[in-house]
Amino acid sequence: MAAFAATAALSTLFLISVTFQHSAAAGQGGGVSDSARDFARAYPDAGIAVDSDDAGVYISIGKSRMIFSPAPYDVTPDPNSQVDQPICASLFWEYPVGAGGRNPAPGFDPGRVRHEGLMKLLYGADAESVRKNCVTVKFMGENVLFNARHGAADALARVAGRLEKLASAASPLRGYLLPTSGTFNWRTVKGSKRLSSHSFAIAIDLNVEKAPYWQWSSRNSAEVKRARENYPQAIVDAFEAEGFIWGGKWHSFDYMHFEYRPELLNGN
Ligand SMILES: [Zn+2]
Repeated sequence: MAAFAATAALSTLFLISVTFQHSAAAGQGGGVSDSARDFARAYPDAGIAVDSDDAGVYISIGKSRMIFSPAPYDVTPDPNSQVDQPICASLFWEYPVGAGGRNPAPGFDPGRVRHEGLMKLLYGADAESVRKNCVTVKFMGENVLFNARHGAADALARVAGRLEKLASAASPLRGYLLPTSGTFNWRTVKGSKRLSSHSFAIAIDLNVEKAPYWQWSSRNSAEVKRARENYPQAIVDAFEAEGFIWGGKWHSFDYMHFEYRPELLNGN
C-alpha cells in the first residue's frame, strides 16, 4: 500500500512536471503568436495570417508563408546577416520611442534587421514594381517619391504637416530637414548584398550635412557627438508619431535616416 502511495505520489509529481513544462512551452509559443499578431496589426491591409506548428510560428501573405519564429524561440538578431532571418529577429530590440535612446549600447540596432522577402511582398518585388507603387509627397516644399502601400506615403505626408507647423521659414529646424537626401533608390546597403529600405521607398534621408553615418564618421568624433546631443528631438518626435524609426538611435548610427516601420512603434 505504502509502495503504491509512493508510486502514485511520484506519478503525480511527474504529471505536474510534464504539465508545467508543456504549459511553459505553450505559453512561450502563445507569446510568440501574440507578437506575430501584433506585427500583422501594424499592416492591417496586407492580409497577413498567423499560424503555428511544432516547428514554430509563421506569417503568410497570400501563398507566401514565412517563418516568424522557430521553436524554441531563441533567435539572435544579426543586422549584418546576408540572408533573411526569422521575422522575429527584426523585433528583438525594442525601439526606444521619445527622448533618450541616443547612446545605444554596442550592437543595439533596433530596426536594422529587415526581412527582404517580406518587404518585397509588402512594397514591390523589384525596382519597377516599387516605382509603380510610389506617389509624390510634398515635403517642406520638395517633391519626394514614397510608397503608397500600407500607409507609408500617407504617414510621410502627416509628418510633413507636423514639421511645417514646427519649422517656419526662420526656424533652425529647416537646416536639418532640407535639402532632403533621397527617398526611393533601388540599391544595396553600403558594403552588403542586402537591399536598403530605400529600395522599397519607405525611408527618407534628411540633410546629409547635419547627419553623420557610421560608415563615414568615427563614433567618437566631434561631429557625431554634436549630432547625438543636438539633433532636434522635435524632428524625431514628428516622425515617431507617424510610425517611423530614426537611425540616430542605432549603434550603427545613420542620423539622416527615417524609416517607416509601424511594427516597431506599435502601442505608442
Ligand atoms: Zn537612409
